[in-house]
Amino acid sequence: MTRKAPTQILKFLTTESMYITVHSAIGASAAQYISEPWIAFVLGFLLHFVFDMIPHGDEGIKKWKFFKSNRRRIVAAASLDLIGVMVMTVFWINHSEMSQIPIMLAAIAGSIAPDALWGLYELTGSPLLKGYYNFHKKLHHVLTKKELTLKHGFIFQGLILLAMTILIIS
Ligand SMILES: [Zn+2]
Repeated sequence: MTRKAPTQILKFLTTESMYITVHSAIGASAAQYISEPWIAFVLGFLLHFVFDMIPHGDEGIKKWKFFKSNRRRIVAAASLDLIGVMVMTVFWINHSEMSQIPIMLAAIAGSIAPDALWGLYELTGSPLLKGYYNFHKKLHHVLTKKELTLKHGFIFQGLILLAMTILIIS
């Protein structure tokens, strides 16, 4: 395990991947139409890749002026993301039918798993995960090389989060 790994993981989560809060929202809303937890998990997992292909502006976080160092900026964004996913999950649970909750949680786990696997590769450097790692990284630039600005990325991801939340609680 390299000493840089935790920083690399944080960096990836906040500059390459879409926020896990948004990935979770997408998975949780798709789960509304599913009745089996394992299918919800797989669907959440697949949807993660679909949405990673859409430019979402996280790259711009490097230019976030509010924080002095890159590391602080990354830690701040990752912490907000983690708090975001916890707060939103509690909110979604509180607004869901009891029977639907396990399915929704399975979908959320599936939505986060692709980034967790990425982190596992950073930590272990396992050759088993190397192909997956390259695939996941490449996905972000499959459709277009264009990047959104940080501001547009925030707005775009915020709108998805809002739309998905409305879907989940209605
Ligand atoms: Zn991802």
